[in-house]
Amino acid sequence: MNVLVLGATGLTGRLVVEKLLKRSGVTSVVVPVRRSLGIDSPKLVEHVVDFEALESRADIFKVDALVCCLGTTIKKAGSQEAFRKVDYEYAYRAAKLAKAGGVNRLILMSAIGASSRSTVFYSRVKGELEDAVRGLGFDYLSIYHPSLLLGDRKEHRTGEAIGMAVMPLANRALIGPLQKYRAIEAETVAEAMVNDLMESDNGKGARPVVVVWEYDDIRSLARGI
Ligand code: NDP
Repeated sequence: MNVLVLGATGLTGRLVVEKLLKRSGVTSVVVPVRRSLGIDSPKLVEHVVDFEALESRADIFKVDALVCCLGTTIKKAGSQEAFRKVDYEYAYRAAKLAKAGGVNRLILMSAIGASSRSTVFYSRVKGELEDAVRGLGFDYLSIYHPSLLLGDRKEHRTGEAIGMAVMPLANRALIGPLQKYRAIEAETVAEAMVNDLMESDNGKGARPVVVVWEYDDIRSLARGI
């Protein structure tokens, strides 16, 4: 299987790449990036691309599956518009290119609360992306709805740092219907995504399948990682 990973230099994307490279069923991991991952592997195919001109690199989207862990924050992007450009536009254009290139499986990182009807801008953009990629008709579309991601992030994000400090305690209080808001290790999400991808065999011509995974489902898919 040849897999393209978007957002490969990010917290989750990098873990997905590292895990895919170790799987025997994976022939190549293609990563369109702005900067090198610095991973030395014969299976890794790195392309430094201009995300504004993704269509000029349609050739690299001719793979078997797409994993999208692309994203930014409104603060980092500088404005809502700039955030939307990355989290909606780049992701959607990439999914469209992948579909046109013959990809039938998409693993999409979204977020808990994503809904095109949300009054929260971040959640609305995530929901709009989900709706848009649903419309592309992948045979297998797998959408992830984690809450706060825990992990070894190089860059400092105050909100997330506070979240990481309090979440282990808060997680215990989040029970029943609130369990889906528990923070989760990015490592767990990445393992779930890779298992999901390797096990999804919704062959061409089968009825399209769309699945949405929340905290409990993600942990089950990751099988204890
Ligand atoms: P990171 O923020 O660690 O990484 C984001 C990735 O997107 C990086 O590869 C980054 O590339 C790339 N990217 C960002 N801006 C641009 C741009 N303008 N052009 C090209 N590439 C860009 O991601 P996380 O692992 O934290 O999150 C992954 C996804 O999960 C995101 O969609 C996020 O919204 C979602 N999510 C995150 C949560 C969290 O707690 N962090 C919670 C729930 C969902 P580069 O390295 O070049 O900047």
